[in-house]
Amino acid sequence: MVKLNFDLAAKHVNIRPDILELIKNCDSLVRVNFPVRRDDGTIETIRGYRAQHSHHRLPCKGGIRFSDEVDLQEVEALASLMTYKCAVVNVPFGGAKGGIAINPKKYSVRELESITRRYTAELHRYGMIGPAKDVPAPDVGTGAREMAWIKDTYSSLFGGNDINAEGCVTGKPLSQGGIHGRTEATGLGLFYVTAEFLSHKDVCERHGMSMGTFGKAVVVQGFGNVGYYAAKFLSEMGGARIVGVVEYNGAVFKPDGLDVEALKAWHLAKGTLNGFPGATSELPAGRTLEGLETPCDILVPSALEKQIDKNNARRIKAKLIVEGANGPVTPMAEDILYEKGCVVLPDMLCNAGGVTCSYYEWLKNLSHVRFGRLTRKWEERSKVLMLSQIEKAGVKLSPKEVKEVTAGPSERDIVYSGLEDTMSDAVVETLVTAKKHNVSYRVAGFINALNKISTCYTDAGKPKPASTVKILPRRVPLPPPCLFQLKPPPPSHPFSNPTGITM
Ligand code: NAD
Repeated sequence: MVKLNFDLAAKHVNIRPDILELIKNCDSLVRVNFPVRRDDGTIETIRGYRAQHSHHRLPCKGGIRFSDEVDLQEVEALASLMTYKCAVVNVPFGGAKGGIAINPKKYSVRELESITRRYTAELHRYGMIGPAKDVPAPDVGTGAREMAWIKDTYSSLFGGNDINAEGCVTGKPLSQGGIHGRTEATGLGLFYVTAEFLSHKDVCERHGMSMGTFGKAVVVQGFGNVGYYAAKFLSEMGGARIVGVVEYNGAVFKPDGLDVEALKAWHLAKGTLNGFPGATSELPAGRTLEGLETPCDILVPSALEKQIDKNNARRIKAKLIVEGANGPVTPMAEDILYEKGCVVLPDMLCNAGGVTCSYYEWLKNLSHVRFGRLTRKWEERSKVLMLSQIEKAGVKLSPKEVKEVTAGPSERDIVYSGLEDTMSDAVVETLVTAKKHNVSYRVAGFINALNKISTCYTDAGKPKPASTVKILPRRVPLPPPCLFQLKPPPPSHPFSNPTGITM
C-alpha cells in the first residue's frame, strides 16, 4: 500500500529516478530470535524486528509494536511510512519501526519485562537504538511501561558514558524523562488536523461540508490511545458528538453523543463497551465492523490497518474519514470512497501528532530541562507589569481573569502550542499541494514528503548530477551496518545476555 502511494506521488515530482529509488528502499533491517524463560520454566524463542527505512536524517524514529501479526514486511512498510510522516510534519528524523511477534495479553508482566529488556539489548548490539541513532516509541501493544524498561536497560547497561542516554526512547513516563502531553499527543494532533481542515471555507465548499467540528457526528473505531483521545478532544475541544465507538469485541451508539469519559471508565472496568448504560444501541462481538457504516459526518478509524476495504467501502456513509490508525483504508477502498465523494485525510498527516511530540520529548532529554522552566516566572512578571499599566488606564479585571491573563505557560501548554502549530502548518501544506496537482490528500502528503527528502539529499552535496552518476551514491551520514540477522549471535558475545534476567 505504501509503495503504491509512493509511485502515484512519484509521477508528480521532479526528482531523478535514481534518487526516488534511493528514497523508496529500506536502509537497514534486523531480525532477531532470542530466548525467554516463561513463568512455567519452559524456554520460548521470541522473534523481533527493527527496520530503519531512511538515514537521510538521524536519529531514526518509529514505534515498537507487540502483536501476533508483526512480520518483516509490516515492519518495513511502517518504517517507510514513518519517513514520509516525519517529512510531512517537518520533524527532522528518518523513519523506523520495530516489533515483536507476540500477543502481549498471553504473557505475564515479568515475561513482558524480560522480553522487552532482551529486545533492547539486541537492538543495541546491532546499532539500532541510541539517542543519536534510532529512538523507538510506543505503538500497538506497548506503552509508557515498556518505554521505561527500554530506557532503563539502555541507560544502565550501555549509556554509562552517554549523558543523553535518556533520549534513547520516547513515550516514557514523566519520572523517566517523559514529557507532559505525549500520552494524548496523537489523538490531540488528530483533532488539530480535523479542526484546521474544516476551517478552510473553500475546501469545505469544494467537498460539500459545513465548516468546523462543532455539532458534527463522529464514529471512532478503536478506543485505545489514539481513539480515546481523538474522541475526547473532538468532543471537549471541538464540540463534536461522538455517536459511535467501535471495538473488536463490542460497539456502542448514541445519536445525541456518548459521554466519552464515562465510556472509558466502563471500558476499563468491564473490558467491553457493550452494556454501557449511556448508549442507546450496540453491536455484538463478531459484527462490530458494521459499526463503521453508521451514518455520521466524520469516521475516525483508530484501531488497525485495512479496516475499510473494497468489501465495505461502498457502505461507508461518512463524508470525511480521518485516519487515526496506520493504513486503515486500502487503496481500492480509497478509490471507491473518492467516487462517492468521501474525503480521506491520510494517516501520515492525521496521526503524526505522536511523533511530533516525541520530537519534543527527545529535545527535552537532550537539553536536560523542562520546557518553560527558565522563562515561566519571567513571562508571568512581564504580564503582571503590562496588566498593571492597562489597569491604570481604567480596565478592571476580576482576580480569576488576572490569574488567567498573567499565567506563564506550563510544559503542557508549550507542547500543545507546538503541536497545534505543526499540525496546522502540515494541513495547509497538504491542501496547497493537493490543489496544485489535483490529487488526493494522501498523494499530496507523499509529494511533499518526497520533495523534502530529495532536497535533503541534494543539498547535502550528494549525489552527483545525473550525467555523472554511474552507481547509486552512498548516503550521508553513513548508516550503521545493514544487517539481516537470522540467528542469535554466539553465546560468547559480550552482550549475549546483558540483563541476566531473560533466561
Ligand atoms: P492501542 O493498542 O492503544 O489501541 C488500539 C485499540 O483498538 C484497542 O482498544 C483495541 O482493543 C482496538 N482494536 C483492536 N482490534 C480491533 C478491531 N478489529 N476493531 C475495533 N477495535 C480494535 O493502540 P494505539 O496506540 O491507539 O494505536 C492504534 C493505531 O494508531 C495503530 O495503527 C498505530 O500504529 C497507530 N498510531 C498510534 C500512535 C500512538 O502514538 N499511539 C501514533 C501513530 C499511529
